[in-house]
Amino acid sequence: MKLYNTMSRAVEAFTPLNGTKVGLYTCGPTVYNYAHIGNYRAYIFEDILRRVLTFAGHDVTQVMNLTDVDDKTIRGAIEAGVSLDDYTRPYKEAFFEDLKTLRVEPAEHYPSATEHIEEMIRLIERLFENEAAYQSDDGSVYFNVSAYADYGKLAHLDISGLQSGARVAQDEYEKDNVADFALWKAWDEADGDVVWDSPWGRGRPGWHIECSAMSMKYLGESFDIHTGGVDNMFPHHENEIAQAEAATGKPFVQTWLHCEHLRVNGKKMAKSLGNFFTLRDLVEKGYTGREIRYLLLSAHYRQELNFTLSALDAARTALGRLDEFRARLTEKAEGEAGSLPDWAAAGRDGFRAGVEDDLGMPQALAALFDMVHNGNRALDAGDVDGAGAAAALAVLDEMDSVLALKPDAAAAGPDDAVQALLDERATARREKQWADSDRIRDELAAMGWEVRDTPEGQKLRSLA
Ligand code: AMP
Ligand code: ZN
Repeated sequence: MKLYNTMSRAVEAFTPLNGTKVGLYTCGPTVYNYAHIGNYRAYIFEDILRRVLTFAGHDVTQVMNLTDVDDKTIRGAIEAGVSLDDYTRPYKEAFFEDLKTLRVEPAEHYPSATEHIEEMIRLIERLFENEAAYQSDDGSVYFNVSAYADYGKLAHLDISGLQSGARVAQDEYEKDNVADFALWKAWDEADGDVVWDSPWGRGRPGWHIECSAMSMKYLGESFDIHTGGVDNMFPHHENEIAQAEAATGKPFVQTWLHCEHLRVNGKKMAKSLGNFFTLRDLVEKGYTGREIRYLLLSAHYRQELNFTLSALDAARTALGRLDEFRARLTEKAEGEAGSLPDWAAAGRDGFRAGVEDDLGMPQALAALFDMVHNGNRALDAGDVDGAGAAAALAVLDEMDSVLALKPDAAAAGPDDAVQALLDERATARREKQWADSDRIRDELAAMGWEVRDTPEGQKLRSLA
């Protein structure tokens, strides 16, 4: 398969460093608030990457960090008057719930920064040994950018005019402010009781060192793929490379991938701009995780995507067509899968070619919808037998190992047992057997369905 490597600015054939094993590090959330769906665009892009690597026969180990100590989490905890741990825990839990709603396959490791302070301290010690770190008068420890000759290679910075010894203490800054950055921040009052001991005195780690230390702990000193949104490229990923390579002397990462932003009216969706929707906001408006997933995965990851509610409505329509096609094939399928109808073979080949060419989702989805169109025509014409339908369904399932858009039981509607209870209840109500009617309503609720009585009859709603 091929992937666009931000480091080379070119689409390259991807070959793992160790046989079929792929180490993948994906920068995770800062748990100081609910993630917005711009963040989820990045996590869904990474989910697609992981699933396509698996689809192409690789064995993926994914690590996603949880940033639970930084300028923003500390400020939040102090404002709320609770401990850092109590402040971040609910946002961690909400994050994992959201991933489930969006059908994101879990990573193998979700390390929290606060549980890896030892590893960060050891990495900073190695940087001291290699004369790439120094302690300033205020007690904080900085990375010496001029000690690492390749600084700027990812973001393509020209650092010839760099002022030696200039320093930046914040975690996030712009390219104009390239300077020595903080590895370890000496404690100050604004940190409250968030503090650890270190060989350089009490303090806390900078944001960037977290990802260098945790990625190398779980994936080794050189690994295959590292990803994030484009805003992570500088300074975060540039600094990660500098810290890792200055410590180990080895190449840190083979392939860098960055997804473009989700935008709203031409601007990046961002907490600081207040133009964001959380997943919960959209679920409250009646959209499902599956619909939001569809929208976020349907654009190419290197293209900006403009978010609108009408695009979500279009996602609902597209999923409706897919579900209907799947239902028609399911009804028709009989026995073992037979030879694949031409339209299904074309769909399978087009889909694979799309996803394996730098995760070309628009191309892959076009192949899928051509398959739906041609398959529906073949079904209308009575040209599909049971074995052909079963084979086509198997192709849809194979694609779904990447897409994860299959309707779940609730979306597929009530099964026969639920339908039988519903009929029984309709009879009970006609005969004014209210106790029976109520008992069946409770049974349905226990099976995950809420039944309401309306002038048009009984209406079901999934509680799942
Ligand atoms: P943060 O919690 O701000 O560190 O962001 C977590 C991830 O979401 C990072 O990989 C960011 O690059 C990414 N991200 C933030 N905003 C957007 C956006 N509007 N569109 C796509 N990705 C984003
Ligand atoms: Zn990171």
